[in-house]
Amino acid sequence: MSLPEPYPDLNELLATIGEAGVRLSGIEASEGAAGNISIYIGWPIEVRRLFPLAEQIELPQPAPALAGKVVIVTGSGRRLRDIRTDPAANLCAIMISQDGRTGDLHTSPRRLFERATSEFNSHIAVHNDEITRTGTNFHALIHAQPPNLVYLSHIPEYRDTATMNRRLMRWEPETIVQLPQGVAVLPFMLPGSPTLMEANIAALRDHSVVLWSKHGVMSRSDFSVTRAADRIEYAETAARYEYMDLMCGRKGEGLSEEELRAVVKAFGIHTNLV
Ligand SMILES: [Zn+2]
Repeated sequence: MSLPEPYPDLNELLATIGEAGVRLSGIEASEGAAGNISIYIGWPIEVRRLFPLAEQIELPQPAPALAGKVVIVTGSGRRLRDIRTDPAANLCAIMISQDGRTGDLHTSPRRLFERATSEFNSHIAVHNDEITRTGTNFHALIHAQPPNLVYLSHIPEYRDTATMNRRLMRWEPETIVQLPQGVAVLPFMLPGSPTLMEANIAALRDHSVVLWSKHGVMSRSDFSVTRAADRIEYAETAARYEYMDLMCGRKGEGLSEEELRAVVKAFGIHTNLV
């Protein structure tokens, strides 16, 4: 889908990034400077009032589908919880050139970082893939490190998409309603590596949340940054129930297949999980 007019302005968009940062911090999914957030904006937007400094950069990854458009992304080493108090100091805006290989990095004189997040290659590659496939005019991506989900990915039997989703979907009716495709599970891959980048793109084509085993998650939304953060929170809450159940010696009954099917039917959810 695409966002309808009137489009949110730059300050509103930055405020939602700040809000998502605080929420992710609230669920302990962004310790220290862990995690990063980016948004693609597919309509004309003026960034120079808030980000007046400009320098040319080479993109870590060609992104022809984003040519002429703006991507806002967290600065390297910045804390997600600090974005809300001063978005301009913690974020940068990249205007992608027409060739899709370079861009103008716009920053504030108050900026507290040297370059965009080290995961920028993954962000830009997923935006490019999604915009190429769907033509959406807005796309938000969040990488965070929610501890319960990451812990489950350390247990070998959970490190599999089908098993993980069977275990996650059974604690609250909300989970399958909010994540009808469930969570895609990738094996451990080196952070920032081309292998992770490629597998991540493929996983996010049919899932809105992907779990990078023994590391963290990436979630996306073509509606809002806060929606992408909510998706992490739904998955992490389910993982917390599963963790509690492991700790309590598997006393929980969980929703039965039949109960889950009734939820899916009542809410008209398209899923192949049950
Ligand atoms: Zn990470």
